[in-house]
Amino acid sequence: MNIFKTERLSDHLIRITDIAQVCCYLVIGKERACLIDTCLGYGNLLECVRELTEKPVFAILTHGHYDHNGGAIQFDTVYMNVKELPVYKKHSQPQWREALKKQNKAIRKFQEEEIMPYAEPTGFLPIHDGQCFDLGGITIRMIEVPGHTPGIMCPLILEERTIIFGDACGVGVLLFDEFSSTVSEYKNSLGKLKTLEGEYDRIYRNHGTFWSPKELLDHVIECCDLILSGKDDHVPVMEHGYKLFSAHKLSEDGSRADGKEGNIKYSLEKAV
Ligand SMILES: [Zn+2]
Repeated sequence: MNIFKTERLSDHLIRITDIAQVCCYLVIGKERACLIDTCLGYGNLLECVRELTEKPVFAILTHGHYDHNGGAIQFDTVYMNVKELPVYKKHSQPQWREALKKQNKAIRKFQEEEIMPYAEPTGFLPIHDGQCFDLGGITIRMIEVPGHTPGIMCPLILEERTIIFGDACGVGVLLFDEFSSTVSEYKNSLGKLKTLEGEYDRIYRNHGTFWSPKELLDHVIECCDLILSGKDDHVPVMEHGYKLFSAHKLSEDGSRADGKEGNIKYSLEKAV
């Protein structure tokens, strides 16, 4: 059963969304294809990819969180920044999927045999900041943006003028656990992204609406400044069992109450 929804974004880019509304991106060049992230590991992602392209496919994991690496085992070649290995090791433990099962009805229906085991990260190939992947007429440049996790990367698809921010910069960036940066370190990363603004027109993400307007980056930089000066709304919120603070007041649906996109949810020790 194909449980994935696919959506063609351009001649070279397809969004694949899984049963829990987490998406990954398939980039197809003349010679080969690249799957950016691998969703949660529920259902046969490789089969879905094979329906979309016959070209050789490799996978890139933007970071080590369980909702981005669940289907990695189905791919022979998988790249991930080595700085993400400790994150991956923690997130490939069963408790993350167990917690998700409690919140998500669709996930509870899955039989054990339809759930992919996590890949051994020893087989992953490293990626470094600035590394380029030539797919044949389509180039992906990897940009390291430490913050949410220490080695999280944003793929910039040069010819498409598209960047995938993923969890690195979005509507509720989590700076929450032992692997996340402080707000000032994160602000430096965003400064680097800002220098690349002339190279992309579209921002895609892996959750929620899956995209954001270009102002997002400025709004998240502004959040850093507000937190660092103690002028943010500092609203207590719980996320994944962590006691965090939202930089901006929230509406009932979790978006910013002022209608703008771009927010940070941080633990108190990160507010430096
Ligand atoms: Zn994440």
